[in-house]
Amino acid sequence: MLMQYTPGQIRQALEEAYQYAAQWVGKGQLPDFIPALDHEDPGRISVCATDLEGNTYTAGSYQGRFSMQSISKIILLEQAIRDSGEDVVFSRVGVEPSGTSFHSVYRLELVEKVPANPLINPGAIASASCLTGRDKEEKYQKFRALAGQLLDNPQVDYDPAVCDCEMKTGHRNRALASMMLHNGVFTGDPEEYLELYYRGCALRVTAAEVSYFGAVLAGDGLCPKTGRRLLEADRCRMYRALMATCGMYDTTGRYAIQVGIPGKSGSGGGILAAARGKMGLGVYGPELDGHGNSVCGMKALEYLSRALDLRVY
Ligand code: GLU
Repeated sequence: MLMQYTPGQIRQALEEAYQYAAQWVGKGQLPDFIPALDHEDPGRISVCATDLEGNTYTAGSYQGRFSMQSISKIILLEQAIRDSGEDVVFSRVGVEPSGTSFHSVYRLELVEKVPANPLINPGAIASASCLTGRDKEEKYQKFRALAGQLLDNPQVDYDPAVCDCEMKTGHRNRALASMMLHNGVFTGDPEEYLELYYRGCALRVTAAEVSYFGAVLAGDGLCPKTGRRLLEADRCRMYRALMATCGMYDTTGRYAIQVGIPGKSGSGGGILAAARGKMGLGVYGPELDGHGNSVCGMKALEYLSRALDLRVY
């Protein structure tokens, strides 16, 4: 695919986006619902892009690793479909926006037995229930290998401290898993599904790796470096559609207006965005708004969307 921007244009836009986003440091909150993540430095911001030829550009004060959190839900969904097929997966989870927070419980009791979509917590736990393998370890290793390909880092792995912390303190997610067992969404061991889900959330990634994954999605599933197919084109279309309609939980509509690029946020402070046929973006800033989205990350994406004309609507 043709490169549509010069490296200089991309670098300049990233640098300006970083400067713009940095003005919002102090305007959000560290995620107190994950105690292992509440000590990050709010001033550490990262803004990265990967074009469809596999060139990655970075700006910002931080190129270190952070917790992938909900961005991993897309990879978990892909592994679930590879293991169990779309029919099984989409009998356990829907594809409609929920309009609720990422860990809302009420829908499973009052609205529908299955979670609304795979990008909210119960949906991702349902995806985890579709992984196959001899045991938890084998299931996780398959998921990890896929994550390694999509992030261009075969060494990627989870932070056990973050996973353990969430296993101990994630009472709502445990309630969601129990409710789904009760509703007949899945059978088996909900504790295992929770742990697989949390290991995915606890993957330690860089914004550059997230932008690379964005470029895979933006390029309809081709590896931006080698052109090798990593994901089916139809699946990429589905993931971008899910990101566009459900990627920011109950602020998805506002994000569509302000940024307008299919995106997925994670409460670790990262956001993934995929501008089809153009580039992938990965941004990071640890402070969150009241909906679990990075405040500075959102501002950076808002800037980049305008500066590089990345909107899809
Ligand atoms: N691990 C977090 C949770 O389960 C993920 C939430 C998010 O990133 O939005 O609550």
